[in-house]
Amino acid sequence: MRKSKSKARIFRNQTRLSESQETELLDSWIESQKPGSGSNPLSIPAPPPNTPVGPTGDGSFLSYAGSTRFDQLPISRKMKDGLGSKYTVMSEIQRASLPHSLCGRDVLGAAKTGSGKTLAFLIPVLEKLYRARWGPEDGVGSIIISPARELAMQLFNELKKVGKYHNFSAGLLIGGRKDVDTEKECVNNLNILVCTPGRLLQHMDETPNFDCSQLQILVLDEADRILDTGFKKALNAIISQLPKQRQTLLFSATQTKSVQDLARLSLKDPEYLSVHAESVTATPEFLQQKAIIVPLDQKLDMLWSFIKAHLDSKMLVFLSSCKQVKFVYEAFKKLRPGIPLKCLHGRMKQERRMGTYDEFFENRSVLFSTDVASRGLDFPAVDWVVQVDCPEDVPAYIHRVGRTARFSSGGKSVLFVMPSEMKMIQRLEDAKIPIHSSKPNTKRLQSISGLLASLLVKFPDMQYLAQRAFTTYLRSIYLQRDKEIFDVEQLPIEEFSASLGLPMTPKIRFLNCKIKRKTIHESHEHENDFEDDNKGPRKVPQMDRFKEESESDLLLVKETLIEGKENEPAVLETHISKKKKLKINLHRPAGTRVVFDDEGNALPPLAALADINNGDCKLEIDKVKERYAKLKEDMKQRDKEDKLIHRQRLREQRLKEKMKLKRARTEDEDGEIDDGHSGSDGEATNGDAKRSKIYLDSDDDEGGKLEKNAGSIADSISLAEQEALALKLLSSMHS
Ligand code: ADP
Ligand code: MG
Repeated sequence: MRKSKSKARIFRNQTRLSESQETELLDSWIESQKPGSGSNPLSIPAPPPNTPVGPTGDGSFLSYAGSTRFDQLPISRKMKDGLGSKYTVMSEIQRASLPHSLCGRDVLGAAKTGSGKTLAFLIPVLEKLYRARWGPEDGVGSIIISPARELAMQLFNELKKVGKYHNFSAGLLIGGRKDVDTEKECVNNLNILVCTPGRLLQHMDETPNFDCSQLQILVLDEADRILDTGFKKALNAIISQLPKQRQTLLFSATQTKSVQDLARLSLKDPEYLSVHAESVTATPEFLQQKAIIVPLDQKLDMLWSFIKAHLDSKMLVFLSSCKQVKFVYEAFKKLRPGIPLKCLHGRMKQERRMGTYDEFFENRSVLFSTDVASRGLDFPAVDWVVQVDCPEDVPAYIHRVGRTARFSSGGKSVLFVMPSEMKMIQRLEDAKIPIHSSKPNTKRLQSISGLLASLLVKFPDMQYLAQRAFTTYLRSIYLQRDKEIFDVEQLPIEEFSASLGLPMTPKIRFLNCKIKRKTIHESHEHENDFEDDNKGPRKVPQMDRFKEESESDLLLVKETLIEGKENEPAVLETHISKKKKLKINLHRPAGTRVVFDDEGNALPPLAALADINNGDCKLEIDKVKERYAKLKEDMKQRDKEDKLIHRQRLREQRLKEKMKLKRARTEDEDGEIDDGHSGSDGEATNGDAKRSKIYLDSDDDEGGKLEKNAGSIADSISLAEQEALALKLLSSMHS
């Protein structure tokens, strides 16, 4: 009894516990009070506000399912400190999922946009590793995957904030960054990876000794997006390299229930927690949503007039392709609306993307974007989300409007629907989205097609952009799956072209092709080879589609698909090389290989060895022999060099390992030093208390250096050791 009392007393003063005491208590608490599988903690009455936390006087623990505040959960002192005063009361998804995820269960969490899903997975990630006493030598313990780079960056920043008192090293691994080599050097020392699928796969494929075999917890944010076709290959390749014995958490506002999708992840009795399923609306409570009917050729007039009428707003504008974003952004910038304009799409250089993201985060402006910004991003105080082009489906709509009205704040959204897309309104209403369509007040509509026409004359580049915007938009409609909503044949094509300021309507080959095929189809009434309600254009013969794709940039319906591809260099490369291989003409007669001379002129393969002075161009045997001897010599030399490099690498690696061991030993010796969060009750804290925490973010302000809060790897090597290392490297170069 005395023992249990002291347990209670000890826990109440969590600050004074050593890490080992704390994790032991947390483990017992979590284990003894596990909520029932399949139970919904939201239906458990909340404990009275002043209920003490942790073990009761008799040594038993209180149930944590039903808690409403973070400090009632079985989480570490460091976690509570990390949450600080900003996060005190839990949101519904946090209350529902944390009791299950903290006790190690797989969770599929669905909750509206802006409802706090991020913390619902960051807390279990940090706590799982903390309770497992994870250290630098344990390597990668958790992987958090996001479908887009900006979202990964946001998650990483949030992890840095709430995990600042934990001693874990974390890395942000996203596509488009130059410093992949620095990443490769450090990635094995990181405990938590926040990444996009492609970059993670790149490390799995290219980084020597990259090891995820000890992974404890995997998170997919925006899980339905990561599980859909755009990321299928990359994700399958990733999953195949992860241990099956792990915890998996999936979160999204639009969750997948597809058994097939989930089977790929080998979930174990997952808890499906859909906290807003019973809610009256599928979108945030304080979001006001409108739809206005705008014909295609008036969309830009409407957008311009809308921006001019809301110059004091922070506005996010969605368009369907990079080309459109580029054109509208460039054109509107030249027309100077009186508010800063920004653009964001998957074809931008990574630094610019990040810059734009930061600027829009901070300042009032209008951001033109593709769907790269549609998911997860938590920009503060966005007043308006404007969807100029119709989203491809209901989930896409929900994510786009979800960029405003986050957590408990309000926001407004407007969707431009064309008369031919009115069915979309029905779809949205059926999905519990409170939206009403109305005709806009055209009296205040300002026509800008004349201004655009003169811009196009003045800036020839703009004409090119306009043409590309025109074709890619039409093609995006043509490639849409939902043919009840998207029908390219109903669009006023000539008027659309004129509205962009184009002097002539550009030719659209895929449409001609479609019309031609349709005529054929009509003459063969029973031969339903083309027009099919849902899949019409997808049945266009592959050849025709390939032609279109190679002529202009590949446009996929979802720009985020492009993002996915960009993020998968490794997969994409193998893919391309396979295709290239297929293109080799196997039937070409042997010996017809073409070689080039120094000026780049094509020559027959053995021309270099032919006797050119002799008119009949016969091969000279001596010359051939001489050439082979030279080649042999060259190869020998190269072989020698390769061996040298290889030996040198081995040496470096051995030296590194030695340093690592040495460091670990030194840290063990330093183990008694207090880190401010461990016990001060006289008991020695565990040896890893002074672990160095690394944040790897190769695009950081620091110019791609590691940001560490307790000594860097380089710092920990003494000067003498550095000299020894340099000497060894030098001597190996000469050996
Ligand atoms: P979601 O992923 O569900 O779209 P986020 O996790 O991005 O939502 O959270 C939306 C906003 O709400 C963020 O700015 C976050 O800081 C804030 N937030 C999350 N949980 C809480 C909480 N319990 N109390 C106060 N603010 C919160
Ligand atoms: Mg989110």
